Amino acid sequence: MTAIPAPGTTVDAETSANHLRLVIVGGVAGGMSAAARARRLDEHAEIVALEQGDYVSFANCGLPYHLSGEITRRDALLLHTPASLSASLNLDVRTGNRVTGIDRAAQEVTVQTAEGTYRLAYDALILAPGAVPVRPPITGLDHPAVHALRTVPDVDALRGSIDGLLAGHPTGAPAPAAVVVGAGFIGLEAVEALVSRGLQVHLVELADHVLPPIDAELAPLLADELAKHGVDLHLGVSAQAVTPITPAGPVEESSETGSTGAVTVSLSDGTVLVADLVIVNVGVRPASTLAREAGLDLGPTGAIRVDSDQRTSDGRIWAVGDAVEVTHAITGATGPVPLAGPANRQGRRAADSICGRRTTPQAPVLGTAIVRVFDLTAATTGANQATLTRAGIAHEVIHLHPGHHAGYYPGAEAMHLVASFAPDGTLLGAQGVGRAGIDKRIDVLATAIRAGMTADDLAELELAYAPPYGSAKDAVNMLGFVAQNVLDGTMPQWQADDLDKALATTLVLDVRSRAEYAAGHLDDALNIPHLELRERLTEVRDAVAGRAISVHCASGVRSYLATRVLLGEGFDARNLSGGWLTLQAVHPKL
Ligand code: FAD
Repeated sequence: MTAIPAPGTTVDAETSANHLRLVIVGGVAGGMSAAARARRLDEHAEIVALEQGDYVSFANCGLPYHLSGEITRRDALLLHTPASLSASLNLDVRTGNRVTGIDRAAQEVTVQTAEGTYRLAYDALILAPGAVPVRPPITGLDHPAVHALRTVPDVDALRGSIDGLLAGHPTGAPAPAAVVVGAGFIGLEAVEALVSRGLQVHLVELADHVLPPIDAELAPLLADELAKHGVDLHLGVSAQAVTPITPAGPVEESSETGSTGAVTVSLSDGTVLVADLVIVNVGVRPASTLAREAGLDLGPTGAIRVDSDQRTSDGRIWAVGDAVEVTHAITGATGPVPLAGPANRQGRRAADSICGRRTTPQAPVLGTAIVRVFDLTAATTGANQATLTRAGIAHEVIHLHPGHHAGYYPGAEAMHLVASFAPDGTLLGAQGVGRAGIDKRIDVLATAIRAGMTADDLAELELAYAPPYGSAKDAVNMLGFVAQNVLDGTMPQWQADDLDKALATTLVLDVRSRAEYAAGHLDDALNIPHLELRERLTEVRDAVAGRAISVHCASGVRSYLATRVLLGEGFDARNLSGGWLTLQAVHPKL
C-alpha cells in the first residue's frame, strides 16, 4: 500500500518504493480514460478496472450507428478488450466483475463474479459506474419486444429483432412498426436508425416538443424533418402501457403464450399504437447506489458530490462521469450532465490527481451537445431560454437565419440560430438547427461561453473564411452584431412570444413583398415592402394612431432596415427577432 499524495503534490511514481494500487469501478468512458492516463503517469502502479458487463471501453455513442448499419462492423465499437488493454497499457481489466460494496475503513471493495465473491484492497478508488436508465411508469415494460439502447448487448438484441422482423416480412406488406418512447438525443438517434432499416416509426414524447433541451422555436424544424421521413409524432403525451397482442387481440398481461410478438402501446391521449418493437429512452439517473451505501456525500439529484479534482467526500475515493455532480456554467446549478466529453476529461483529471500531478480543475459544464436528425443537425451549448427564465437570469434572445456559407456560392443552406445574451452582453447560451454548418458554429459559441465572451467579442472574432466555408461576416459575427444593436438600443426588438400584445397594442408593419404577404400574414398588418417604405411614410403616419410599430419581414433583416428608417423618422419601432420564420415556429397555426 502506498500513500496518496496530497493534492497538488508532484510525486515521481517511478521512484516510489511502494506501488500504488488503483481500483476503478466501471470500464467504459470515464473509467478507462482514468486507467489509461494513470498508466501513462505511473508505470509501476497496479491498475485494476472492474466492469460488471462483458465489454470494456466500447463506443456507446456509436451504438445507434451500428443499429442503423452505418457502422457495419460490430467490432468497430469495441475499441479495446481486456487482452489489448493488458498488452498496451499493462492494465488488469476484469469483465463480469460487479462491485457490490465499498468498505472505506478497510479500503476494500467487494466484487461479485460468476464464480463467487472476493474482496480487493485499494490505495485509491475511482467510481465510474455511469448512469442507469430511468424506468418510466409504463406497465408491460418487461415484454421482450421492449428494448433499451445503452449497451452492446442491447444493440445486438435490437439488430437481431429487426433482422428477424425484416426477414419474416412479406413483400408488399406494411413495414414492421416500432414505437420509440422519448425524443431526446438518443431517442432521435434510435428513430433515425430504425427508419433507415425500413421500419415505420412512431415517436412518443411527454414534452411539447422534440429534443426538449433545445429552444422550443427550433423544435418544429426537427418535427418537420421527422415527418418528412415518415415518422409519426406524438408530442405532449406519455406512453402508459405495453400490452402483448395475441391472435385474438390485446391481452391484459405480458405473456409469451399465444403472443404474436407484437404489442400495443397505449398513450395518455387514448391513442393505441401497434408495434413489433419498442425502444424506451426517457433519460438516465446517476448510478450512485454504491456511493450512497458507502456513505459518500451525494447532491440533491442523487449524483456523487466531488471537488474540482473529482475527489469525493472520502479522500481516497474519486468519482467521474455520469454518476457525478457538476456545476452548470451559466446557472450555477448542480447536478449530473451525462455526456461523453465531461466523463472522459474527468477520468483524466482523477488520474492526474491520484498520481499527484497538476490537475486542470473541473470547469463548470456547458452541456454542449449535438445530434443528427436525418439531414438536419441540432446542437446546443450553455443555457436555453427555458433554463434562463427558470433561473431568473435576465437575457435578450437573438434569432438569426443566416446561410452556412456565402449566399452567392452554390449550395448555401439556411442555419437557424438562437442565442441568449445577458444585459452586459455576456453570451449565455446558443442553439442551432440546420443542414450544414451548425457543428462549427456551436463549437465556436461553446468556446466563446467558456471564455466569458460578450457580443462585442463575437463581433470581433476572426474566423476562417472563403466562400465555400463561411461568410466574411460569419454567422457568429452576425450574432454579435445583432446583439450589440439590441443591447445598445440601435435595434429594439419584439419576440414571437409577444404576438398577442403586438396585435392588441401596436401597429404591425409587414415589410415583405406583396407576394410573401399574400401567401400568409397577420390580421390587420399593414404591408409596405421595405424598399417602398421611405416613399410611403405618410401611410404609416395615418395608421399608427399614437401606437408603437411592430415591424417584421421573413427573417428579420429587411425589417431591421425598416426599423432603422422608422426610428430615424421619429417612430417608436421595434423589429421581430427572427421574423416570420420564427413567428411561424412559435405559432404553427399562423
Ligand atoms: P459509462 O461509459 O456508461 O460506463 C459505466 C460502466 O460502469 C458501465 O459499463 C457499467 O456496466 C459499469 N458499472 C456500473 N456499476 C458497476 C459496478 N457496480 N461494478 C462494475 N461495473 C459497473 N454522449 C455524448 O457526449 N455524445 C454522444 O453522441 C453520446 N451518444 C450516446 C449514445 C448512447 C446510445 C448512449 C448510451 C450514451 C451516449 N452518450 C453520448 C453518453 C455517454 O456515452 C456517457 O455520458 C458516457 O459514456 C459516461 O461515461 P461513464 O464512464 O460515466 O459511464
